[in-house]
Amino acid sequence: MQDNTRVKVVTAKNAGFCFGVRRAVDTVLELRSKTDKKIYTVGELIHNSIFVERLKEKNIFVVEEEDIPTLEKDKDNIVLVVRAHGIKKELVKYLEEKGFEYVNATCPYVERIHEIVDKNTRDASLCVVMGDKKHPEAVGTISYAHCDAVVCSDESELEQNLKEKLTSFEDCFVLTSQTTYNNEKYVNCQKLAKKLYTNSKIFDTICSVTEKRQNEVVQLSKECDVMLIVGGKKSSNTKKLFEIASEYCREAYLVEKADELDEDKISALCKETLLQPNAVFTVGITAGASTPDDILEEVKVRASEIIITASGETTT
Ligand code: SF4
Repeated sequence: MQDNTRVKVVTAKNAGFCFGVRRAVDTVLELRSKTDKKIYTVGELIHNSIFVERLKEKNIFVVEEEDIPTLEKDKDNIVLVVRAHGIKKELVKYLEEKGFEYVNATCPYVERIHEIVDKNTRDASLCVVMGDKKHPEAVGTISYAHCDAVVCSDESELEQNLKEKLTSFEDCFVLTSQTTYNNEKYVNCQKLAKKLYTNSKIFDTICSVTEKRQNEVVQLSKECDVMLIVGGKKSSNTKKLFEIASEYCREAYLVEKADELDEDKISALCKETLLQPNAVFTVGITAGASTPDDILEEVKVRASEIIITASGETTT
């Protein structure tokens, strides 16, 4: 925390790289130090364009799943890295059959969901994953199901799918979620599933890191005049943090880096707040699980500079 009594910047305790992302990043950097082969991550290692550019400078590239076959002729000179989100079961089989060298950096929490789906869907009629249909983690997870499987984004889609795909309230279905799904929404989905179907197998699969961050951002957003969410615009967990912050704080902003801060707007808000007697202007900052520490630090420093300058201008 930095403050000059009239303004302060408060950073969430759980901001920045989570355990799974740090592990994946360390894995790929360690691999870089051990091999001269070209390294490809299957999809972006983390959803942060600045970081992806930094990896390119180290000869670590991104290959999308559908383009992997184009690397087949050169497979003896490359190593693939499976990122924290994991990949589809079929793709693991393909890599093994074709003899690709690969390192698996799937987060253990994601692997746990794959195991749940694999073990529990053998006798089930349906497997539902609450999450984002296009997100690689959700796409990977449903590939482990031995029954019909679908990704649902919200409670109403869940209800519609259950009614369409199950024939009796006694049909067995498996309910899981993406690790970054909204906790409050998932609790409601679980209640609905229990109310409508007697034979549902429901699993708590939201990552505790995500839950902690989401709870923390609710609290911080209530206490701050401005909330800054630092992270990639394509990062699912960053977008969720932004959604939550926007619910509780009227001035919430998602920024990828320090120079995206709206200096004029933040200065104006700060000056307006400080017109009130004894007011303190507070900026809250949190960051998605894929935001590198130095980028978060730059945003903190820049935000502090902006509000300290603005507060100086209001001093008579
Ligand atoms: S958010 Fe949780 S599940 Fe996802 S990579 Fe990080 S630790 Fe793993």
